[in-house]
Amino acid sequence: MKSLILAIDQGTTSSRAIAFEAAPEGGLRPVEVSQIELQQHFPRSGWVEHDAAEIWSATLQTCREVIRKAGGVGRFAAIGITNQRETAVLWDATTSEPLHRAIVWQDRRTADVTARLAAARHEPEVQAATGLILDPYFSASKFAWLLDAVPGARERAAQGEVKLGTIESWLIWKLTGGASHVTDATNASRTSLMDLRTRQWRPDLAELFDVPLEALPQIRGCADHLGDCEPSLFGAALAIRGAAGDQQAALVAHGALKAGDAKITYGTGAFLVANVGTEPVASTSRLLGTLGYDANGQVAYALEGSIFSAGSAIQWLRDGLKVISESRQSEAMAQSLPDNGGVYLVPGFTGLGAPWWEPDARGTIVGLTRDSGPAHMVRAALESLAYQTRDLLDALARDGAPRLKVLKVDGGVTANAFAMQFVADICDITVERPAFQEMTALGAAKLAALGVGLIDDLEDHPVEAPAVWTPRMDASMREALLKGWRGAVRAAIIAANPDDA
Ligand code: ADP
Repeated sequence: MKSLILAIDQGTTSSRAIAFEAAPEGGLRPVEVSQIELQQHFPRSGWVEHDAAEIWSATLQTCREVIRKAGGVGRFAAIGITNQRETAVLWDATTSEPLHRAIVWQDRRTADVTARLAAARHEPEVQAATGLILDPYFSASKFAWLLDAVPGARERAAQGEVKLGTIESWLIWKLTGGASHVTDATNASRTSLMDLRTRQWRPDLAELFDVPLEALPQIRGCADHLGDCEPSLFGAALAIRGAAGDQQAALVAHGALKAGDAKITYGTGAFLVANVGTEPVASTSRLLGTLGYDANGQVAYALEGSIFSAGSAIQWLRDGLKVISESRQSEAMAQSLPDNGGVYLVPGFTGLGAPWWEPDARGTIVGLTRDSGPAHMVRAALESLAYQTRDLLDALARDGAPRLKVLKVDGGVTANAFAMQFVADICDITVERPAFQEMTALGAAKLAALGVGLIDDLEDHPVEAPAVWTPRMDASMREALLKGWRGAVRAAIIAANPDDA
C-alpha cells in the first residue's frame, strides 16, 4: 500500500528528506529522516551563494537513503517539497547544469538596483501588485543579475535555452529530468514578479526588473501535480504533488488555516506569518503581503514580518560575549534575576527588520548601572525576542489584520521556557508549541498528501499535546516594560542616523 509521503526540506544550511506516513488517528507522522549539511559561499562582503549542483546531489542522496530505509519506492504515494525561499538559480535547459552559483536570499549584491527603483518611486506599484517592498531580498533583482553576469544568457533566455527559478523549481526540473519547469504560487509570491490576486506573472514588473517571462517557470498551486520523477532516479515515476516556501509550509503544518491564525518560527532569525483570510491585506506598517497557500482551490493570504536576530542573539551571548557556554544555560541565568534591572538589548546586529526596516541600525544596550552583570545581558537578549514579536503583532493590528487568539511557535529558541512565557506576557497572548517540531517538512508532506488524496484536508491532527504558555503579567507592568523597550529602539535608530538627531 502506498501510504508514505517523501518530504524534501531544502534549507539554507542543510538538505533533508523525511518520510511521513498517514497515522490511523489522522494526520501524518515521521518515520525516516536523512540530512546533509550544505556549504555556503561568501565571495564578498554581503554576497551569499550556494552551489545548485551540490543542492541537487544532496537532495538526491537524502531521498534515496530515506526511500531505502522506509522499505522501497513502492511504499511512497508522492513527493512534497519545501525550500529556502527567494534564492535564485539560472541553468542551461539543454544540459540541466547550473550556469552560476545560486544567489541566496540573504545576498545584498543587488541593493543598488532596488534602491534605484525606490528612488524612481516604483515601490507603491510593486507593493500594490505583489505585497512586497523593494529590497534585494526578493528574487527578481537576483534573476536579472544572473542573466547579466553569465555571457550570452540574456540572448539564450529569449530562445528558451536557459531557465530561471527558485530552489523548488530547480529541484522539480532535476527530479523530472527537465520535463517540468514550474514553481508553486507561494515561492512565486516572493519574487516581486507575481500579482498576489491573480497569482500570475506581471509582464509590467518583469519589464521593470528586466527579467524575461520566457525564462520563468509556470506558476502552479501548492497541491497541484507538479511533475513525475524521472523513473531512473528512484526506480519509479513518483509524482510531485506538493510544494511551498518554508515559512508558508510551517503555516500549513501548524494548521493555521483561518484568518487570525498565526505562527512564528524562532530560529536564527524569526518569521511571523499571520493568516489574513481569502483576500490580501495591504500593509501600511511595512509588513509583507504574501500568499499563505493555494491548495486544491483553498486560498489564504498572509502578512509576514521578519526579525533578523532571534537565536543569533543567544549565539552572540555564547560565542561573542562568552557569558554562557551553551544556549540552554540562558534560561536559568535569566531566571536568576527578579527582573531586567532596567536593562534592554536591541539586537540590531544586522539591522532591524519589520516594522522598522533600519538596515543601518546596530545592536544597542541601554539602562546599564553598576549592578548590571552578565545575567542582565542574557535576560535582555531573551526578553528582546518578546518585544520584537510584540512590535510585529502591533503592526499587524495597525494593518487591520484579524486579531490573533493564539500564537503557534516552533524553532530552536522555543526550547527556552523563560522566553516563551515572556512572549505570552508581553504580547498578552497564549503561546502554543507543538510537540513535533519539523514544521516545514510536515507542511510540505501535508500539501502532497492532500494533492494525492491521502488526507482530506490540511487540518492539524497532533498526536501529542502542545506545550502552552498563557499570559500572567499585569497590564501596568507590561506597559512599563514596553515603554522601556520603545526608548531603547529609539536610541538604536538615533545612533544609526546621527545626522538626523
Ligand atoms: P535555524 O533553523 O535558523 O538554524 P533553529 O530552529 O535550529 O535555527 O534554532 C537554532 C537557534 O536556537 C540558535 O540560534 C540557538 O542559539 C537557539 N537556541 C537553541 N536552544 C536554545 C535555548 N534553550 N534557549 C535559547 N536559544 C536557544
